[in-house]
Amino acid sequence: MLIDGAAIAAEREKKVKLWTAEMRFYKTAPKFAAILVGNDPASELYLQRKDAQAREVDIEMVSVQMPSGASIEQVIAQIRQYNADPSVYGILVQLPFPSGSPPDQARRKILDEIDPAKDIDCLTSVNIGALTSGQPRFFPATVKAVLTAINAGMGNGAQMVDWKQVNGRWLSGKTAVVIGQSEIVGKPLAVALMNMGATVVSANEWTQELKSLTRTGDILISAAGVAGLVKSDMVKLEAMVIDVGMNRTERGVAVGDVDFAAVSNIASAITPVPGGVGPLTVISLMENVIEAVRNAQSTIANKK
Ligand code: NAD
Repeated sequence: MLIDGAAIAAEREKKVKLWTAEMRFYKTAPKFAAILVGNDPASELYLQRKDAQAREVDIEMVSVQMPSGASIEQVIAQIRQYNADPSVYGILVQLPFPSGSPPDQARRKILDEIDPAKDIDCLTSVNIGALTSGQPRFFPATVKAVLTAINAGMGNGAQMVDWKQVNGRWLSGKTAVVIGQSEIVGKPLAVALMNMGATVVSANEWTQELKSLTRTGDILISAAGVAGLVKSDMVKLEAMVIDVGMNRTERGVAVGDVDFAAVSNIASAITPVPGGVGPLTVISLMENVIEAVRNAQSTIANKK
């Protein structure tokens, strides 16, 4: 089965549009802010996609691009400005930061400046902690996208799921192998899958005998950013394969981490690249903006 992320995202888009229309009817304008430090072309492209998706569903995205040499204080000042702005419901810092700027130890400090109530991509320590303890405030958009893809691979199509309500045994008895341990994708994904009952194997670039581990996966997720990493002999027969990777060939063609042609003969369900996890991630972010607006409104209502 092909897990058609683009088609599922298009279905979800209709729902998000209804929500934004309803919000605007009641005089609330859903809006989020994105901060980009530097001019990494991939990050610029990701932000353009988010902006295009936001326009499509009638959410406003404001963005600021800061030079790669921006100081820690400047980035923090920008975050604080958005924290203080009640018309901004969500804040996103587009990662990765440019290499070496800001220094590694300052990055956590910067991200932790985001108001956790506006932290729509789960970048703050507070929200990562909440996710880890099984009480997520927001799921990182890519994590939500992968969960949605897994659900579709189980035959549930574009079904909307409130992942916070999912029983911790949803994936019990299943082994999920996650390749990649980054702070923004692999690690939170492994944690979320654990909280949903899966037996999780988490691999990184130094993992030995990767093939013998990946072959144990009923669900195999690759988020390494290495084109052609997952070959057919690394996949268990009838496994579900979710490809988070987004790489460019020398000719500029977008490809994932998985050898799609070969692996699709073995997998029970598989996501393509492009058109798989990517569009699901962007629509998941929009859903998180809606959630942030609703949370903000109920906080105000509770105070009254
Ligand atoms: P990253 O570079 O921060 O982390 C990569 C991880 O993969 C690291 O833990 C590294 O140790 C591991 N890794 C690298 N080579 C490996 C190998 N040969 N074997 C096993 N593990 C290996 O990257 P990231 O930010 O987590 O992104 C990963 C990929 O996902 C990239 O291609 C990125 O473009 C893509 N991405 C896609 C989406 C989406 O929505 N589709 C969102 C975010 C990231």
